[in-house]
Amino acid sequence: MTKTIIENGLLIDGTGSEPKEGHIVVIDGSRIAYTGAADAYTKDGTETVIDAKGGTVVPGFIDTHVHMMMEYSSVADRLATPFSFMYYQAMEYLKTTLHAGVTSVRDALGTDLGVKKAVEDGLISGPRMQLSINALTTTGGHGDGYTVSGQTVDLLPSDYPGMPGGMCDGVEEVRKKTREMLRAGAEVIKVHATGGVLSATDHPEFTQFSLEELKVIVEEGKFRKNTRVMAHAQGAEGIKNAVRAGIHSIEHGIFIDDEAIDLMIENGTFLVPTLLAPVAVLETAEETGMPESAVRKSEEVIDHHIASFKKAYDAGVKIAMGTDAGVFKHGTNLRELELMCNAGMTPLDAIVASTKTAAECLGWEDEVGTIETGKLADIVIVKGNPLEDIASLKDHETIQVVIKDGKIEKDIR
Ligand SMILES: [Zn+2]
Repeated sequence: MTKTIIENGLLIDGTGSEPKEGHIVVIDGSRIAYTGAADAYTKDGTETVIDAKGGTVVPGFIDTHVHMMMEYSSVADRLATPFSFMYYQAMEYLKTTLHAGVTSVRDALGTDLGVKKAVEDGLISGPRMQLSINALTTTGGHGDGYTVSGQTVDLLPSDYPGMPGGMCDGVEEVRKKTREMLRAGAEVIKVHATGGVLSATDHPEFTQFSLEELKVIVEEGKFRKNTRVMAHAQGAEGIKNAVRAGIHSIEHGIFIDDEAIDLMIENGTFLVPTLLAPVAVLETAEETGMPESAVRKSEEVIDHHIASFKKAYDAGVKIAMGTDAGVFKHGTNLRELELMCNAGMTPLDAIVASTKTAAECLGWEDEVGTIETGKLADIVIVKGNPLEDIASLKDHETIQVVIKDGKIEKDIR
């Protein structure tokens, strides 16, 4: 196979080091065969050359919180959509996400093993995926679609082959449910440790699952090659319970207090902020038929969310970029970098959070997340310099070339 050389671009390798001029990336098959100074590399003349002049070469972005099988729609629309249609819609979501520059995602519930296999086998195009299958949730908790009418209206279908329902209560039930998710192919366990914005019968500050239950979930994960646990956790008490139980990443983290920050630093817990989630919910509420309660809760939490992010960032909590895409439009993922910078993060740190640190959050740091010799060739070429205009990344025209596993998936130069 001929090698591909990316040259003439500014290189931001994702490690956090300053951008480099005069560096190249050589791709051989699915991997990076060389990266370094152009004049230290001898071409053999057969290479395919990608001229990145005027652009910046960055690692493929990683979104550590997405829902590839859904894009929020009204209850009426959901009820009128045939079950299998969601798979065809997901094909579009996956492609849009990849073309937005996101080459890896962690799916925070709703995607089964067949979808991952379809991407891996090249049947459809999409980012590399780490699946949680379905989230564990308490009765009346964030993932319980029960409404006061007595009808249950879930965001997504569940309880079909490959997608066990997630409701469980008490130590023995959560143990069994964790095992069911692992059996269905979960590579990370997702748990709803508090209430949330979209759930009808609870509130972000409600604590769900006891410390004892959370510890059992973490323990079950450890039995299986150290499978990690990600917790939807918005209220302070639920966040602290999750961290104390040994959970790997806090999703959303809206009401983080000082004690939670100390605990997260002590335990090396990641924060996945999803700053875009409430912003996008409010922007699209009318169009998507978002219920009044969700709009009200989004408005209520938005300032706390930003303040918590700022506090965690300043204190040195590990931050992995994640958005909750699927609750709103897929392909808008990289808006998150702009929001993180608006909340005080430096543009270079925002890129590291979206590449290197995100890869660490997934446990995939040996394979992806930075441009280094030997790693998988997940590379994006963007127009201009994102450090000078971080907001430009959200524009799909800025994302000129997307390479995943050494294969060019998008090239609009
Ligand atoms: Zn989510």
